[in-house]
Amino acid sequence: MTRQGLRKPPIPPIRPLPFPDIQGFAIMAIEHTFSIIKPDATRRNLTGKINAVFEEAGLRIVAQKRIHMSPAQAESFYGVHRERPFFKDLVSFMISGPVVVQVLEGENAVARNRELMGATNPANAAPGTIRKLFAENIEANSVHGSDSAENAAIEIAYFFAGSEIVG
Ligand code: ADP
Ligand code: MG
Repeated sequence: MTRQGLRKPPIPPIRPLPFPDIQGFAIMAIEHTFSIIKPDATRRNLTGKINAVFEEAGLRIVAQKRIHMSPAQAESFYGVHRERPFFKDLVSFMISGPVVVQVLEGENAVARNRELMGATNPANAAPGTIRKLFAENIEANSVHGSDSAENAAIEIAYFFAGSEIVG
């Protein structure tokens, strides 16, 4: 038998693509992003409605838990905003009730989730976005979503053990 006969077949693409790469394989970026359903939304019993937006857009909730953040957790999570004038209010808001922390999985999940969320200020958010649909104001804006893949990895690790993420 020749070596030719032993050659492994190429790994097939996961699904057909509109824009195959040079070898005809899928260019896919399956990512994880970190999400929080904030206290204004849990208070109004909107967890399911917000999750429906994620799921209808093709994002999978691969980890989720409802927690009440401690002041130290909220301060540390929003540490990048420590110098901003709204920092103290933001921490008070984030500890004012339960939140749902989540890991979302999907193609380009970080950017996709930011699109679904809409602008920080609901007054500027596009129609159909979570913040346009549900947010109360610029602070109580219903959801957090990671702004980069690097921050997603850091934020996920802050709230979840690897064993809690089940894709
Ligand atoms: P985003 O959540 O859209 O990434 P930022 O990272 O800029 O927005 O801000 C983090 C959070 O801080 C916002 O989601 C919101 O809850 C709060 N926040 C941002 N800007 C303001 C503001 N001007 N006044 C009050 N709260 C704010
Ligand atoms: Mg942000």
